[in-house]
Order: sequence, then C-alpha cells, then structure tokens
Amino acid sequence: MAKITKRKTAIGAAGRRNEPRCVICGKANDGIEIQEDQILGLLRWFKRNVTRNEKGYKLVVCKSCYPIYTKSRKRFVNRQVLYVGLGVILSLLLVIGGGNKLLAVLYSIIVIVFMYALSLLSYMPTLKVKAQRQNNTR
Ligand SMILES: [Zn+2]
Repeated sequence: MAKITKRKTAIGAAGRRNEPRCVICGKANDGIEIQEDQILGLLRWFKRNVTRNEKGYKLVVCKSCYPIYTKSRKRFVNRQVLYVGLGVILSLLLVIGGGNKLLAVLYSIIVIVFMYALSLLSYMPTLKVKAQRQNNTR
C-alpha cells in the first residue's frame, strides 16, 4: 500500500515539470508537440516577467483535438492573410491619396502592424511534426 502511493507521487512530481498540455481542450493529454516561435516566446516572456504565472507546460495538440486544431489553424492563417492584405490595401490608398508621402508611409506601417496584431487574437501555433500520419506506429 505504501509502496504504491510512493510511486504515484514520484510520477506526479516528474510529470509536473514538463507536463504536456493540449492547447485546444487544456487537458494534460499527450499529443503532437507545438513548434516554439517568436509569438509563443513573447507570450512566455510576458507570463514570466509581467503576469508571473508561467507554467512551463509542453504545449501539444492531443489526438482527439487534432481535427479542431487543423480547422483553427487554417482559420488563423486565412485571417492573417486577410487582415494583412487589408492593411496593405489601406496603406496603398493612403500613399496614393495622401498629400504628405512620409506621413502616409508612417500611417501605413501603423495600419499593417495593427492589422497583424488583430489577426493574432485568433493565434494558433504550428506543429513541430507535420507528417505525423506517415510514421504513425500506434
Ligand atoms: Zn485536446
């Protein structure tokens, strides 16, 4: 009896350090690992230095959430293209229509950055392994 509880706590302590966490359902399921990028790095930095609640989870997408993930990722990529595209169109209109070219270019940069930031509201990171289906042994 005592042995079992001892083993359980050992597993628990080891698991907590780099526990997998599904980005869709938020459960501690194992799954396909998320690729670290600048945006995730920025979020981690923010959590570590500003809100001070960095959990250090290993971000994954679990098997049952994979179809939801692919949809969300696709939606995010489409939105990003759309928003940045709109920003570029707005910028062109500003540059063509504006009197002060320098000011128009400055506004354009602000518009594009703002549109890009707006698209990040539905941010969905990419996966580390893309061709997971081909070497699926389980
Ligand atoms: Zn999940």
